[in-house]
Amino acid sequence: SKRPRVRMTVRSSSLSVTPILTNLQNTCATPLPTLRRVADAITADMRAGLAVDGGSDLKMIISFVDSLPTGDEEGLFYALDLGGTNFRVLRVHLGGKEGRVIDTEFERVTIPEELMLGTSEELFDFIALRLETFVQKEGGRFHLPQGRNREIGFTFSFPIKQTSIDSGTLITWTKGFAVSGTAGRDVVACLNEAMERRRLDMHVSALVNDTVGTLAGARYWDDDVMVAVVLGTGTNACYVERADAIQKLQGQTPSSGIMVVNTEWGAFSNGLPLTEFDREMDVASLNPGEHIFEKTISGMYLGEIVRRVLVSMADCGALFGESVPEKLSTPFILRSPDLCAMQQDKSDDLEAVGSILRDIFGVSVNLSARKMILEVCDTIVKRGGRLAGAGIVGILQKMEQDTNGLLFEKRTVVEMDGSLYEHYPQYRGYLQDAVIELLGSEISKNVIIQHKKDGSGIGAALLAAVYSKYK
Ligand code: BGC
Repeated sequence: SKRPRVRMTVRSSSLSVTPILTNLQNTCATPLPTLRRVADAITADMRAGLAVDGGSDLKMIISFVDSLPTGDEEGLFYALDLGGTNFRVLRVHLGGKEGRVIDTEFERVTIPEELMLGTSEELFDFIALRLETFVQKEGGRFHLPQGRNREIGFTFSFPIKQTSIDSGTLITWTKGFAVSGTAGRDVVACLNEAMERRRLDMHVSALVNDTVGTLAGARYWDDDVMVAVVLGTGTNACYVERADAIQKLQGQTPSSGIMVVNTEWGAFSNGLPLTEFDREMDVASLNPGEHIFEKTISGMYLGEIVRRVLVSMADCGALFGESVPEKLSTPFILRSPDLCAMQQDKSDDLEAVGSILRDIFGVSVNLSARKMILEVCDTIVKRGGRLAGAGIVGILQKMEQDTNGLLFEKRTVVEMDGSLYEHYPQYRGYLQDAVIELLGSEISKNVIIQHKKDGSGIGAALLAAVYSKYK
């Protein structure tokens, strides 16, 4: 009964998969001129998006965050984080300059798939229920001053047309979410309604993108943090912009003179080195024609691109032989943690690769096929990491141009977050290589690309404190 299910097809075994690999490697190549072209296109798109709404693929969303945490923040704050695969609730107790972060507690749950494809009400009811259960665990430990209710920093990691620091309407879902009835609605109102249904007396003081939360969390510790990048299920970046450089603010410049801008760079598309496999995956996706950069570099899609390449290789009969595993035709069955685990196998016989493939596809794969599969993974991961690096340089060079070359004279920190960056050493390495190739080794010394664990979690809570209604 344990026999793997295979699809038997008669194939010409004289065909070889090598041309497919060579072709793939050529199309996915990211030599320096390609990286430069992508970085320059991102810079240009940023400018166009700052000029007018809809000016380019990059939405360059005004976050309404014009002050960042200083370290003085005090009190009890909650954070909700709805982004990709997981939903998190956090409680943060801030102690001001002296005490800093006194305590944090959190709970994480995987979002059930039916909720990702269900109705808005179901999704927000789920969030409110989780929040309520978590708040109850306070167990009388904290006492709020009379007349105050608990404040929330709400990290909502999808494209939002922000209308104020505590409101914004959903433009579109991404990353496999297709919840009906939310697009075009204020997501804070959706949450409020769900909280009212549970008689939960709390309110949102700050609605932020995950990149903005990451930036705020990192800024709390380090004043040189200027850019934040998320590379996880999806991808995005935000940065600190000079308010007078944002034409679409039309003179409504905040007194701080700065504004955090959420680029929504996942939607970038100009001049990317794409293959037929990317195009087919896009067509089959929940958001065809959208978020092409995200589909090329982020965690949700890398495995699926590899799978599509393997399907085409299997069709030549030279990868799995005559017995193509049936599971190879299951979309998204290969995930980036699988690619990552395979790429850590440095042994000659690729034993671990073989066992991972057996677990996923239920068949044994011979050594030459294992090697071939690893090559495919590396090609797709290398392209993703290097293009992400080009994206970072695109943002840095925009800031550099606007400071007449002063930016790179001092230390500038790019804070990274997301599981792909955190857990995939090869991806991270390719990203760093690309940044150094583009900036040169001298300048790169001043650009610190770092990942501090758990910064992003408290970022939204910190912004709830900065924008507290009771200040
Ligand atoms: C969303 C962004 C988010 C990013 C990373 C993208 O799909 O559009 O808003 O920041 O994923 O989570």
